[in-house]
Amino acid sequence: MQVYVRKDVQAFEYVSFTEFKNEEELDFCCEKLEKYVSVVKSWSSKIGKFCIVEKDTLTPIDYCPFCGKKIDYVDVE
Ligand SMILES: [Zn+2]
Repeated sequence: MQVYVRKDVQAFEYVSFTEFKNEEELDFCCEKLEKYVSVVKSWSSKIGKFCIVEKDTLTPIDYCPFCGKKIDYVDVE
């Protein structure tokens, strides 16, 4: 599945931070991942990837943990 990632830089007078957003309409590879993402809030706006969330630890994923399909993160401007 492809995930389109938009980099959003917030700049203030003294600090700036970068946030990664994904397209709201996603074509999920399987229902399990779709459910996981909506229940666990597994998108990391700092990393710009979906993550497996275990307590305070986020592990970015490049493959779906349920069906094994590759997850392509595509940068968009
Ligand atoms: Zn899947």
